[in-house]
Amino acid sequence: MARRFSFGVVVALLALAVQTPAQQWPAGFVDPAPVLAAASKAISEANLRCVTFSGTGYSGPVGQTFENAPNIDWPRSEMANYTRTINWETGTSKETFDRKPGNNPASWKYGIGWVGGTPTQKEPRQTHIVNGQYAWHMDGNGPPVPVPPELAEIYQLDIWLTPHGFLKAARKPGANPRAVWRWEQLEKGRDGNVVAPEKVHVVAIIVLGKYRVDATINSQNIITRIKTTVNEPVLGDFNIEHESTNFIDAGNSKWPIAWHSHHGWDDNWQFYSESTGHNGYGGKFPTVQANVCDDPVPVPESVKQAAPPNYGRVDVEKLANGVYLLGGGPANSYMIEFRDFVAVFEAPLNEERSLAVMETVAKLAPNKPIRWLITSHPHFDHIGGIRTYNHIGATVVAHYINLKFLNRDVLTYKPRTIKPDILALWPPTEVAEGYNYEAVQENFVITDNSRILRVYYVQPLRHVAGMLMAYLPAERIAFEADLFDTHEPPRAAQLPSMQSFLTQVQRMKLDVATVAPVHGKPVPWSTFMEAMKAVPKTD
Ligand SMILES: [Zn+2]
Ligand SMILES: [Zn+2]
Repeated sequence: MARRFSFGVVVALLALAVQTPAQQWPAGFVDPAPVLAAASKAISEANLRCVTFSGTGYSGPVGQTFENAPNIDWPRSEMANYTRTINWETGTSKETFDRKPGNNPASWKYGIGWVGGTPTQKEPRQTHIVNGQYAWHMDGNGPPVPVPPELAEIYQLDIWLTPHGFLKAARKPGANPRAVWRWEQLEKGRDGNVVAPEKVHVVAIIVLGKYRVDATINSQNIITRIKTTVNEPVLGDFNIEHESTNFIDAGNSKWPIAWHSHHGWDDNWQFYSESTGHNGYGGKFPTVQANVCDDPVPVPESVKQAAPPNYGRVDVEKLANGVYLLGGGPANSYMIEFRDFVAVFEAPLNEERSLAVMETVAKLAPNKPIRWLITSHPHFDHIGGIRTYNHIGATVVAHYINLKFLNRDVLTYKPRTIKPDILALWPPTEVAEGYNYEAVQENFVITDNSRILRVYYVQPLRHVAGMLMAYLPAERIAFEADLFDTHEPPRAAQLPSMQSFLTQVQRMKLDVATVAPVHGKPVPWSTFMEAMKAVPKTD
């Protein structure tokens, strides 16, 4: 009996065995081809060669929050009269909108910005164009201003982060689609109108030979979400994610008219990050024209010929004995030499800039370690280079309320897969064990008993929480960031910060002779006082 029973079990198992498909997919994976085909059919993707959509949206400047605390989003500015044309056949996009001038650099579309130190936006009308590897913007009817190559690549990538773009990109050579299936759970919070877990597919492809782009495709074969990872100098691997809904008939295709886009993690639980700024772009774009494809705007000669930004150029200017402006880039660092060590004020931009500044310091003060790096405030245009100071063995002096953000999101061991930096590739153990931070509450002093450098918390201030400035009382030099920019005439939007600077100087009874800004050239105190009187009350 026993023998016959076990024979029966074997037969039953064979009968249950699933037919082996021609191509084997590992557990958890499925064939991406039918998933993509069904997604393409669901929106009649092939019928749309290009699209123009209009409406009203918003942009969220990445890295410019007042506070890097949990659940504080990027600030928002409205984009009115918004129109964008995307043409996947030519790899071009043209985007125009109206935005209140004054606060933003003109180059700032949405998401990652402020790389080139470009001037503040002067005109309401903004135009952003990408054609192949070139991208440029125009402030009103101003000349085309080239977007740096690294950002131009993200402008191009963005064309393919649309449902139609994704499906077209998935057919290109080298896309190498792969697919998994999963259950999508209910979302906590305001978007959570899912009533039951839904089986979805996620298809990953490679775009521009470099970026992995994932599309989530729901049970109705609709692409609901497209995400990718790009490099951001402060945070490293950086999430960009478009969610699109409300598909309408456009031509013989379907096109989504409601968008919202995450630049950073939308992370209610702070799993990944301390700062959860994320809404980078969004809006309602109900007017859609299908397949109205003008010839792509040709790349202006000035954009083609433009040299990429040279972060390695450091122009040294002596302000006093052992005190130097390290300029030449779109934002400055300052070097203060002591008997046995050096302090640096500000590490803007990126690693390339910091490494160039460090080589310059090593020439000006051979064999003196950079003992301190004072970082004024954690807006991303000011801290892209601070990781490199961890690498070189400096202690980062920051206001204490920014410590959590710097420690958890910025100065970390996390691998950087898109553009690994020197700290990610050569991590020193001090990142975990060393004296990496000096968290200032009110004031802090760096001294060798002959020279003294005071570091102050600037308050009250509307620009950002936790702003530090520094002061050399003997030389009467005040180092500051964003409190008074001298690279262009002061604008009304800057007046509250200038007022905070003046209040701070008066409260500390500082006898300032020279204002040494991060944006612009050092100026005499009288220039600041004249600007206080002359600055317009409104832009
Ligand atoms: Zn700032
Ligand atoms: Zn700034």
